[in-house]
Amino acid sequence: MGGPRLLLRRLRAVMAEQVDPQTRLDRIVVLIASNMIAEVCSIYLQRDDGILELYATEGLNPDAVHETLMRPDEGLVGLIATTAEPLALADAQAHPAFSYKPETGEEIYHSFLGVPVLRGGNVLGVLVVQNRARRVYTEEEIEALQTTAMLLAEMVAGGALQALARPGVKSALTRHLELRGSPAAEGVGLGHAVLHQPRIQITKLISDDPGAETTRLEVALEGMREELDRLIDQASASGEQRDVLETFQMMAHDAGWLRRLKEAIRSGLTAEAAVERVQNDARARLQRQTDPYLRERLHDLQDLADRLLHKLTGTVLTNARQQLPENAILVARTMGPAALLGYERAHLRGLVLEEGGASSHVAIVARAMGIACVGDIANITDLVADGDAMIIDGGTGEVQVRPSANIEAAYVERVRMRARRQEQYRSLRARAACSLDGVTVDLSMNAGLMLDLPQVAESGASSIGLFRTELQFMLAPQFPRLGEQYSFYKAVLEAVPDRPVTFRTLDIGSDKVLPYMKKIEEENPALGWRALRIGLDRPGFLRPQLRALLRAGAGRDMRIMFPMVATVTELVEARAALAQEQQHLKRHGHDLPRGLAVGVMLEVPSLVWQLEELCPLVDFISIGSNDLAQYVFAADRDNKRVSGRYDPLSAPFLRLITQIAAIADRHGTPLTLCGEMGGRTLDAMALVACGLRGLSMSPAAIGPVKAMILAMDVGKTRAFLEQAMDQQGDGRSLRQGLREFATGLGVPL
Ligand code: PEP
Ligand code: MG
Repeated sequence: MGGPRLLLRRLRAVMAEQVDPQTRLDRIVVLIASNMIAEVCSIYLQRDDGILELYATEGLNPDAVHETLMRPDEGLVGLIATTAEPLALADAQAHPAFSYKPETGEEIYHSFLGVPVLRGGNVLGVLVVQNRARRVYTEEEIEALQTTAMLLAEMVAGGALQALARPGVKSALTRHLELRGSPAAEGVGLGHAVLHQPRIQITKLISDDPGAETTRLEVALEGMREELDRLIDQASASGEQRDVLETFQMMAHDAGWLRRLKEAIRSGLTAEAAVERVQNDARARLQRQTDPYLRERLHDLQDLADRLLHKLTGTVLTNARQQLPENAILVARTMGPAALLGYERAHLRGLVLEEGGASSHVAIVARAMGIACVGDIANITDLVADGDAMIIDGGTGEVQVRPSANIEAAYVERVRMRARRQEQYRSLRARAACSLDGVTVDLSMNAGLMLDLPQVAESGASSIGLFRTELQFMLAPQFPRLGEQYSFYKAVLEAVPDRPVTFRTLDIGSDKVLPYMKKIEEENPALGWRALRIGLDRPGFLRPQLRALLRAGAGRDMRIMFPMVATVTELVEARAALAQEQQHLKRHGHDLPRGLAVGVMLEVPSLVWQLEELCPLVDFISIGSNDLAQYVFAADRDNKRVSGRYDPLSAPFLRLITQIAAIADRHGTPLTLCGEMGGRTLDAMALVACGLRGLSMSPAAIGPVKAMILAMDVGKTRAFLEQAMDQQGDGRSLRQGLREFATGLGVPL
């Protein structure tokens, strides 16, 4: 064999020739076949409909070119396209996936070597060599073929081969992908992909001087290692960031990785093309890897390769591009909330993340900014390129990549419908949510960021029923001091001067971690040290917050609520801390709130059997149905395996709500509910029927819930539900029956 470098040099010469694209491909297959001493070399390219079409061959029947078509689930070629992995076989016909295409005349060839033509995470085709004899292909030959496939990928991406396609058929590069992830922030966004960390474009792939390229690689590696050392020195002595950097540093010295890079250079690639080549393999492995630990390591390897590419090409590694084109759909593996806030809101239409669902911090910020967001889309940063058309629906979790005109039209219609509905909701803004039979329900909103506050007026919320104070703590680089907390609460109150705000004290622990706080390993964090439990055990957290809240509320009405209360005793202790802070402020001559309402969240079932004792001690109760349902059904709210198993719209949960509402009503204690259920129209309908007269929800839900209440009859719904609970008291979901009942009466859901 002529050696990979010779092959690449000849290929480069063919690339430079002034010939039509088919002749160029024909010459390429001849070159590869002769260089690898193979009887056959064929190029299959994948079309946008997934079909693999034979584009050129040396050795097979030339009439089969553009005639032989394979589905991606067909034959060895299909297998390579689907797995994105090379395949080398001494006896191809013995392989279960072998599929015989009579028009090609390939039955006489026994050994087979095929590699995918890759660009990013997309398979653009398959390159194959075949031999009559049963032979074993060497590692070096596999590598050489992979390197050649890179050149082909560039030809496809550059559009040079489009002229050979049948009319209307496009390359897999423009293939439409329909993906589904976790809905993370409502809204439909149409636009074009912008990679949060843009991929580096490599312009020069082939080099004649491996010595010089190896030196370039070594210089870049050295520079990268020094940079990592510097970063490790700067990082705090412990912590996750340092762990990550140290892992990088270890990988940067990994002998296997370095050997693969140098081999790729020796085969005739430039240093940056070698990095890309080695990264292609890692990417293909990543796509199949399900073990979260190994996925993490492969991600680290990609980060490292990115750093190296930046060094080699002299581009600067930035975390975020502030300049956005219009209608940008941001695509990122992960993103911190601060990075999202750094982008220009006016140009953002959506955010797609590989990792992180609805409860991730960045999703919370996306919701507050009113940007559609979908999480948990595996490999999306590899599947799209900057500028690809994209559509996302943050309500359903759908992501369309390079959609057809039909699909786009359907979404445009969806957007139009949404806008029309929003218009209707806006017209209801000043109206009370009063049912057909005269029951009024107070609708308030949940908030946690300054960004949320303009929504109070826009949504028509009567108040802020839940202000999650932990968000300020979660977004801050370090624990906010008393002064910072005070300024923040004061700014919140000033932004909403005419409506009550219910501040919930710090609710951390379980899934809400503070990055700067030492992580405590617990077997069952949801049942562990969290929220008020921390506050009572560590007055250093709770007391400054209470003081900051009381000072911020000076001269006006203030509402404070404690989360995760399990016993009346805990409430009594929390109230005592509050009273001490009031005394302290009074002693020091500070103004106090005009009125102070103190409430608890009902999230722990034990509190249900203390309501008789609790009601006289509080000014209000708010049901945290997210946590209450998780404890009632013993099913982790964030664990996908169990979270869909039990429906709160079933007899056990609704009976519980009815019971709580009846006791609170008897005591005259105001009762609301501020979990996600309250914002879902059908669930809200059931809750009102069970006796709730106040619901707090995300601002986007207020319009739909109000429209529902205006059309419902509370008496009739209650009668229906009571009967349904009697008949189906076994825990079965009542959702379908209730939905049919509602739509039968024309209640909009
Ligand atoms: C709840 O548990 O229902 C709630 C509103 O609190 P969070 O979702 O913040 O835990
Ligand atoms: Mg909760």
